[in-house]
Amino acid sequence: MSYDSDNIFAKILRGEIPSETLYEDDETYVFMDIMPRADGHCLVIPKTPCRNMLDASDAQLAACLRTVRLMGHAVMKAFGAGGVTVQQFNEDVGGQEVFHLHYHVLPRHEGIKLRPPGQMADFGVLKEQADKIRAALAEMG
Ligand code: 5GP
Repeated sequence: MSYDSDNIFAKILRGEIPSETLYEDDETYVFMDIMPRADGHCLVIPKTPCRNMLDASDAQLAACLRTVRLMGHAVMKAFGAGGVTVQQFNEDVGGQEVFHLHYHVLPRHEGIKLRPPGQMADFGVLKEQADKIRAALAEMG
């Protein structure tokens, strides 16, 4: 399986498709998921190409997981969450739909289940939630 540079996240990285940016560093980029399964659901991706965890380099995985940890703290702070769920899918059969490595970061609250997949966000609400996460990141320094 090879990397297709026309996947949606590659287009987001190139600025060809808009996204609600939360954070970036030299190696990773973070943005809101447009079909959030929890308030604050965001996606961490490497800036360099790889299809999923199976073809990722040690450096890509390490960079993504550092950013996943950062975003875990940020979304918990932003939404007063008690925990965070991290999801990552590999290939069709493994549940993957977009073929650029990504980690889902989902803030969680006691007794509240994840919403079903495929429900498009209201973009005004998504921006408000993104503002909260950006503010939390700024406070964390
Ligand atoms: P997976 O490949 O892990 O199953 O999930 C892909 C994720 O990407 C889904 O949660 C979906 O909502 C999200 N997604 C799909 N297209 C877009 C898009 O154009 N923009 C953003 N921000 N997220 C997307």
